[in-house]
Amino acid sequence: MPDMSPIILEHYWLLARRGNLVALGLYAVFLAVFLVLGNWPMALTTCAFLATLGWARSRMPWRHAECLFTFIWITTLAFSAVAVLGVGREAGFHYYALTLLFLGNPEGRDTLMAKFFPPILMMGFYLGLVPWLGSMAPWWPLPTASMHVVVKLNEAALCIFIATTAFHHNKAIATMTRRLLGMASTDPLTGLMNRRRMEELAAMVQNSHERHQRPFTVILGDIDHFKAINDRHGHYGGDQALKSVSECLLGSIRAEDQVARWGGEEFLILLPETTLEAGVEAAERIRSHLAQLEIRYEGALIPLTMTFGLSQGGPTGSFAQALGRADEALYRGKAAGRNRVERA
Ligand code: GH3
Ligand code: MG
Ligand code: MG
Repeated sequence: MPDMSPIILEHYWLLARRGNLVALGLYAVFLAVFLVLGNWPMALTTCAFLATLGWARSRMPWRHAECLFTFIWITTLAFSAVAVLGVGREAGFHYYALTLLFLGNPEGRDTLMAKFFPPILMMGFYLGLVPWLGSMAPWWPLPTASMHVVVKLNEAALCIFIATTAFHHNKAIATMTRRLLGMASTDPLTGLMNRRRMEELAAMVQNSHERHQRPFTVILGDIDHFKAINDRHGHYGGDQALKSVSECLLGSIRAEDQVARWGGEEFLILLPETTLEAGVEAAERIRSHLAQLEIRYEGALIPLTMTFGLSQGGPTGSFAQALGRADEALYRGKAAGRNRVERA
């Protein structure tokens, strides 16, 4: 599966491994049943099938995933065919092969071949091979009473297999979606939320604060002379500084406040239910925390300062307006000598 993202591949393998485990469990039950019934040929056939399932499991995850899935298809169809020949079609062992369709097109490829080959092959199996094999007298027939039990077991096994596979499939999709959403809204370097996520949150805060006529404050902070930090300590030194600043910002705000990496060395802090005066206090607190911060990279200390521009939104304007004013204030703060808090 060459063009699959590792995150999808990981979940796909998890799904395949769980399906395989359920199949192992179910066929271990059938092995026990055949042993109890003294049907040695079917016990041996089931044993061989269990061995191939176990071998397939030991090869997961495997680089040549398609070869492995083809192998599982062939061995499962072969087992189903032998079971139909051995104990007859009524026993229902061939129904299990239906579950192969879960492995039919793992990448969800949208080509005619990928979409239609697995179901057509399966139809050929059910409409052609199974009736033909089932028309012969069973090689190792089961007593009628045992047959009833095996049929019920097979029906239950099919339900269990499809239910567990569907459950794991849904769970994998939900987990994967959560992970991808997390990745799409997080800055990978600092772990802070990114600009996209902050814009979503800001829209929510703006709506509720407009409705209730409550103020909120935005603080735009920018590291002073960050280019010089990069030049002196290297890009990784700069990265370390960004991480430490992020931790410092997170540690300096209330639980209900939000901080995002807004740009390269620019951070945006959103303070709901906060007036400009309270926002200035918060920004000054951050500035004093930054002054005490000891950022070290390869033994060297990286002292830094930040300039903050603040503006209030809510009844007095939208998030975008507040942000524009905070940006102007930040610019004024830079022009006035940096390392300061400038209000709009
Ligand atoms: P000022 O005080 O006016 O803000 O000056 P400055 O040097 O901080 O501002 P400038 O915009 O000139 O430079 C910002 C630098 O931040 C340039 C860019 O290479 C660097 N930068 C942006 N993103 C990253 C990053 O993820 N890691 C590192 N190490 N540097 C970054
Ligand atoms: Mg800067
Ligand atoms: Mg900047």
